[in-house]
Amino acid sequence: MEILVCVKRVPDTAENEIAIKSDGTDIQRDDLVYSVNEWDNYAVEEAIQIRDKVGGSVTVVTVGDSEAEEVLRRQMAMGADNGILLADDAFEGSDGRGIAAILKAVVAKGKYDLVLTGAQADDGAAQVGGMLAAMLDWPYASLVNKIDTGDKSLKIGREIEGGNQEMNEIDLPCVLSIQTGINEPRYVGIRGIRKVASIEIPTYAAADLGVAADAVGPAAARVKRVDYFTPEMGAGAEILEGSMEEKIDKLIELLKAKGGLK
Ligand SMILES: Cc1cc2nc3c(=O)[nH]c(=O)nc-3n(C[C@H](O)[C@H](O)[C@H](O)COP(=O)(O)OP(=O)(O)OC[C@H]3O[C@@H](n4cnc5c(N)ncnc54)[C@H](O)[C@@H]3O)c2cc1C
Repeated sequence: MEILVCVKRVPDTAENEIAIKSDGTDIQRDDLVYSVNEWDNYAVEEAIQIRDKVGGSVTVVTVGDSEAEEVLRRQMAMGADNGILLADDAFEGSDGRGIAAILKAVVAKGKYDLVLTGAQADDGAAQVGGMLAAMLDWPYASLVNKIDTGDKSLKIGREIEGGNQEMNEIDLPCVLSIQTGINEPRYVGIRGIRKVASIEIPTYAAADLGVAADAVGPAAARVKRVDYFTPEMGAGAEILEGSMEEKIDKLIELLKAKGGLK
């Protein structure tokens, strides 16, 4: 099975204090530590397990700048066979539809049976997988937490309300957005990263993909970000300060004081 997994390089929330720019356009991105979007890590692990079971290959693709190559290498160290970087100044500031349009063009360049995305990324939009499927006119399932492979279709489980599980059969080719917990992503050691350090990763720009530069980017965005801010604290709300241990101690004190803990 030929599998394409869409991965995004995102700020690592465990490693950064995220602050918002004073002009309300974005978060402050200087000196942030980045890693692969958590959901995408599960999607890559799932793709590797499917390939190891039924054969084929796993390609990881990202829309980003040259620094995004590091997440492709990390996923290749994990076991993906190929990486593709989609980089062009014209791609910057795209909305979810723009990102999906760029990814659609790369799907059209290959012969994929299955495309995996994460259920959501750092903007929490959960848009790209569904939009990509619609643009390809392929079937789509979201929040997938189980995949059993078949010949022309897959049996997939979806996480639904109240801890219930739904099972579906979906025709190939299809797009699935993957929920965390579907598997246990393998550890990537430094030796694995060194092994893939010199593999060439092809980079495609808008012209290589046949994507019109004015069909993506901020000018083509139909959802425009107009502000970005931390809301005022509501009455009675309190933000605990200090190290993680200090915050935990203060929280336990508060819960005890309010009768929530004996
Ligand atoms: C400077 C800046 C300006 C922006 N301006 C706007 C704006 O005006 N309007 C607006 O709507 N959004 C804007 N965005 C947000 C941006 O385009 C979002 O990434 C997009 O809306 C999708 O949301 P998400 O990242 O939460 O992805 P989701 O839809 O939640 O992601 C789901 C999955 O899609 C795939 N995916 C997402 N992004 C990528 C990627 N880059 N490469 C490969 N796979 C990917 C991954 O598999 C991911 O798990 C801006 C972002 C930046 C940094």
